[in-house]
Amino acid sequence: MSNCAIVGVNWGDEGKGRMVDLITENYDIVIRYQGGGNAGHTIINEFGKFALHLLPSGIFRKNVVNILGPGVALDPENLLIEIKMIVEAGIKITPENLKISDRCSILFPWHRKLDELEENRLKDKKYGSTKQGIAPFYSDKYAKKSIMLGELFDERFPERLKDLLEFKNLYIENFYKAEPYTYEEILQWVKQFCEPIKPFIFDIGTYLDKAVNEEHKGVVFEAQLGSLRDLDFGIYPYTTSSNTLSSYAPIGSGAPFISIDQVIGVAKAYSTCVGEGPFVTEFFGKEAEELREFGLEYGAKTGRPRRVGAFDVVATRYGVKVQNTTDVALTKLDVLSYLDRISVCVAYKSKDGLVHHFPFPSKLKDMEPVIEHLPGWKKDITSIRKFEDLPKEAQDYVIFIEERIGAHITYVSVGPERDQIIIRKK
Ligand code: GDP
Repeated sequence: MSNCAIVGVNWGDEGKGRMVDLITENYDIVIRYQGGGNAGHTIINEFGKFALHLLPSGIFRKNVVNILGPGVALDPENLLIEIKMIVEAGIKITPENLKISDRCSILFPWHRKLDELEENRLKDKKYGSTKQGIAPFYSDKYAKKSIMLGELFDERFPERLKDLLEFKNLYIENFYKAEPYTYEEILQWVKQFCEPIKPFIFDIGTYLDKAVNEEHKGVVFEAQLGSLRDLDFGIYPYTTSSNTLSSYAPIGSGAPFISIDQVIGVAKAYSTCVGEGPFVTEFFGKEAEELREFGLEYGAKTGRPRRVGAFDVVATRYGVKVQNTTDVALTKLDVLSYLDRISVCVAYKSKDGLVHHFPFPSKLKDMEPVIEHLPGWKKDITSIRKFEDLPKEAQDYVIFIEERIGAHITYVSVGPERDQIIIRKK
């Protein structure tokens, strides 16, 4: 069977969760391969409305195995809260349908604390962190100042924890002049939050090798955030601290031997961006407020109002390219139905002239958008299920974008519900 990655091609919040929720019908396994509790997928289905931060979006499907790969920032505290929320909605979560890699590093309480201490130190130069400990977590992981979940079963675990705590306290006390943690308090935290997830911990590489290569099961890789937040290819330093790109998916999943056949790059029919950093097509004032209200653009994790703007052809074409996108899903087309005319950014303008290629991050602040206006359709399109039934202006909008971003728009989403989707043939 084929394997598919569902990734964002913009700044995140493109609607990846709703696409994974839709696509998993045809797959056996869904894997989260990067990120942690810092962003959220919102999913609306027959069980209700959910904001998932860590759990893969296949958790609602019977017979789908959900995996958290070693690339994930495994925050046991948030994970347990999420599991409880899902179980209360009547969905079973067992080691049969949720498996966590023994190679996931643990996100400890000091990661969240360090995130907050650093954002406070930076004051008006802050990065706009969600303060979920993600940057300190990945720094520690790559500095090898971390503990993997599988070590919970090791007799040397207490010693490892003591050594790690000694190191972290040096930093917390001496650099930030903050209160250190005691060993007893961290041990208590481990008992409370890590012990309950022990039954879900597996050797994921071996599991996936059998599942994919012997049993021919199909895998969906689920990304968090989008191309422009990728640590290496995004708008550094306003990126996340991990790799959001599809090329990284097999590695972050714990199965570098799996190849990906289809990459669905999810783009929103307009732009949104949470937190700080350059955002060339940003709207302000009434234009922004209206779009934010119609699109309900508030962060799934933080409730922060999202910055909103015109669809950005330059950024999306780049996002599509670096994701190796084979098919685009254009979401939230219905949100634009209130507009008489729709702005699209078709190029950037700098003092040196027109720019069509997405620039180096530090150059973005010098860019201005070149806007074209397309006619709106001013009709409710949420119940339309065939492309040819969309108003002509809506079809033209989709085709206009498709011709400029370098990949086929295979899915057009016209509402948040599972069935509010139009599938276009290539
Ligand atoms: P993700 O992190 O990429 O999954 O995106 P989020 O979940 O943060 O944001 C997407 C939001 O848009 C969610 O609230 C979805 O329910 C909603 N959504 C997704 N697709 C559509 C759509 O086509 N129309 C509308 N109106 N809402 C949508």
